[in-house]
Amino acid sequence: MRPIPLRLALALSIVAAPLPALAKLTPAETRMVQTVDAEQERTLAMLEKWVNQNSGSLNIEGVTKVGEMLRAELEPLGFKVRWIDMRATGRAGHIVATHKGNGRGKRLLLIGHLDTVFEPDSPFQRWERRGNEGIGPGSGDDKGGMAVMIAALRAMHRAGTLKNADIEVVLTGDEEDNGMPIEVARRDLIAAGKRADAALDFEGLAQENGKDIGSISRRSSGGWTLSVTAKSGHSSGIFSVNAGNGAIYELARIIDAFRRELPEEKLTFNVGLVGGGATAKLDEGRIRLEATGKTNIIPETAVARGDLRALTREQIDRVKAKMQAIVAKPLPGATAKIEFDPDEYPPMAPTEGNRALLGKLNEVNRDMGLELMGELDPLKRGAGDISFVAQDVDGLIGLGPASEGDHAPGERVDIASIWRQAKRAAILMSRLAAEKR
Ligand SMILES: [Zn+2]
Repeated sequence: MRPIPLRLALALSIVAAPLPALAKLTPAETRMVQTVDAEQERTLAMLEKWVNQNSGSLNIEGVTKVGEMLRAELEPLGFKVRWIDMRATGRAGHIVATHKGNGRGKRLLLIGHLDTVFEPDSPFQRWERRGNEGIGPGSGDDKGGMAVMIAALRAMHRAGTLKNADIEVVLTGDEEDNGMPIEVARRDLIAAGKRADAALDFEGLAQENGKDIGSISRRSSGGWTLSVTAKSGHSSGIFSVNAGNGAIYELARIIDAFRRELPEEKLTFNVGLVGGGATAKLDEGRIRLEATGKTNIIPETAVARGDLRALTREQIDRVKAKMQAIVAKPLPGATAKIEFDPDEYPPMAPTEGNRALLGKLNEVNRDMGLELMGELDPLKRGAGDISFVAQDVDGLIGLGPASEGDHAPGERVDIASIWRQAKRAAILMSRLAAEKR
C-alpha cells in the first residue's frame, strides 16, 4: 500500500478516532485546567486594562506602558524582566523575560507582541464585552494572545510545573510596523531563538469550518522596486533602432514576464503600484507616485512596487534570481533594475520538527478530550515574528485566541477560545519543559 500523506492520514484519523471517554490528564494538569477556569474574571479584567491602553506601534509612550503592565504580571511568576529600549529604531522597545528552571528540560521561547495597528488617532480605542465576545483594539491580536500566555503561566505556577521550567518570553513592541534597521529591531528575538529548543507563538488561533487548526509554517513577506530608464524622443520614432521602446513598454514586458514565468506553489507576488512617463517619482514612504508625460513623448522613466511571499529561503532566492534574469534582458533602448527591500520578514518553513510539535499539541488535545488539529495551509496566514527564529528552533504558531476582524475597527476575540488555548498551552509547556533537552 502506498503510504498515505501525513495530512491526509491526520484528516482520516480525525474522522475515524472516537473521542476518548475520559481525559487522561495528570493531577497537576487537571489543576491547571481548573486554575484557568477559576481565574477567568481576573484574566478578562487584565485583558480589558491592556486593550484600553492604546499601544499603536508608533505610540512609544503607550507601548512602553503596556510593557510595564506585562512586567507587573511576569515578575510575580518568578520571571526576571528586562526592557530593551528600541527608540534608536523609531519604536518603543521589547520585553525580554527569563524564568530560570533546573536547566535540564527543553528551553521554551514564548513570543507575543505589545503593539497594535490602532494608533491614538484611530476611532477604535476601548474594550467592550458582548456575551462571549470581547471587542477592542488588540483584543485578539495580540493582547488576547498575551492574555492566553499569562493565564497559562499562572496555571503552571499554581500547579507547580513552572518551578523547574526554563522559559524565555519575548514580547516585541513593533510587530505590526517594525522599526529599522530590522537587524537591530529583531536582534534580541533572534538571540533568544538560538537559546531555545522550542518556540511558541501566541498569535491568533486558526480555525477552518469552525474547527481549531494547527499552524506550523508562515510565508515570508518582502517588497521590491522595479526601476526602468530609457531613451526619450518624439513618439513617432517608437520601436525604431534609434529611439528604442521607451520605459513603459519595458516595465510592462517585465511585469508580464513575471506573471507568465514565475508562478509556482505557495508563491505569490503582487504589483501594487506603477507609474511612468517623462518623470515618475516615488515618495519617501514608497506608497505614492507622481508622474508626468505626454502622449507624443517616448517615456524616459517607469517604476513599479510589489511584494513577494514564499515558503522557504530556497524558494525566495530562486524566485529572486529568476526576476533578476527577466529584468536583465531589456528591450532595445531601455535599462532596468530590481531592488529588494532590506526589511524582509523571513519564511517559517513547514519542517518535520515543527510538525512534531503539532503532534505533541495533538497529544494534549487527545488527553483533554478535544478533537485533533490538522495543518493550516500557509497561504492562509501572513508573516510573523516567529519566522525570525524559525531557522534556529522548532516552532508552533497560533497559541493565541481565535478572533475576527483583526487589524480593523471592530476586531473581536472569542472569549471561550482564551480558556481553551490557555489550558492547551499550560499543559503543552509543562510537558515540553519536563522533557530532557
Ligand atoms: Zn499580531
